[in-house]
Amino acid sequence: MTVLRIANLGKTYGTATALAGVSLDVAMGSRTVIVGPSGSGKTTLLRLIAGFEAPDTGRIELNGELLADAEAGVPAYRRNIGLVMQEGALFPHLSVLDNICFGIRSEADANKRALALMDMTELDRGMAQRQPHQLSGGQQQRVALARALARQPRLMLLDEPFSALDAGLREQMRDATANILAQAGVATVLVTHDRDEAMGFADQLVILRDGRLVQAGSPKSLYRRPVDATTAAFLGAAIILPADFSVRTAECALGALLVPETDAAEGAGKVLIRPEQLNIVAAPEGEWHVVSALDRGNKSAVTIERVYRGDRVVISFDDVSVHGLEVGQAVQVEIAGTVRPLKG
Ligand code: ADP
Ligand code: MG
Repeated sequence: MTVLRIANLGKTYGTATALAGVSLDVAMGSRTVIVGPSGSGKTTLLRLIAGFEAPDTGRIELNGELLADAEAGVPAYRRNIGLVMQEGALFPHLSVLDNICFGIRSEADANKRALALMDMTELDRGMAQRQPHQLSGGQQQRVALARALARQPRLMLLDEPFSALDAGLREQMRDATANILAQAGVATVLVTHDRDEAMGFADQLVILRDGRLVQAGSPKSLYRRPVDATTAAFLGAAIILPADFSVRTAECALGALLVPETDAAEGAGKVLIRPEQLNIVAAPEGEWHVVSALDRGNKSAVTIERVYRGDRVVISFDDVSVHGLEVGQAVQVEIAGTVRPLKG
């Protein structure tokens, strides 16, 4: 079932288009991740959903109820949507407990619920009377999460909530947050520009660029079938080569490769090959030559080259399971599975 429905959403600031024609559904209890470079409109999208901005075009619905369109909007405080930002934005003069209780103070069991939320977010109850400056960055973000959950939001929005944390803690917080949100059963929209965070967190991954939705789908489907070269490279290591397509064949420097029936194409374009599809084998008559080979034991970093239709083509791999290659050696490249045509 759909919790959040966004249709044809648009927002401009003066002459700058922050969002244009964005449509998106978020399913109950699911995790949607919005990724895109800086300035692509990620924060604007969350601010529109939360109600801090009004759209110029389109509409936003929560559980079938209109939250906002170009004419009218439910005020932010009545949307019952939780929001956690990059820096927790905790009230500095309030204790942990009072931060979490903020907004539910009037309720009889506020303290009890706040303590239960501390347990859920793995905050030691002994910290209840501390102030935010007496907590680590990770603990502060847990308090921010607990505070947002205290009001039992219908939807949770997280805007780069881990980006101020260092790498190890970020990963730990990402997994902890995914667990906490699953326990709470609340649908979540997370914004990030970090690939691993996006791939690790998402049921639905949404790629935003220049205020437009480029592609949406499961991480697996986007990895396998990215719409264009930029998306392909963002989602993982990619080898992208010019190719001539004729129905189910891509003719390129790596040979005549098989294209899936559903992706049949004609004419000149680009083809995507993932490094895990490749196998490099020593072959005296091979067209490729090893330029460099760094054997790291488990995996190797290898660069190979060849001349193809008068041009020098170079391919580098970071993590291939080939060993014992020597610089200058002739090799052949075998491709497993099918390859995809790309736009752009
Ligand atoms: P992101 O979060 O992906 O980095 P933003 O949503 O913050 O992107 O911004 C998208 C675009 O809208 C940018 O070009 C930004 O400069 C512009 N923008 C965002 N907020 C405002 C604002 N309040 N006033 C003017 N321009 C804005
Ligand atoms: Mg932003």
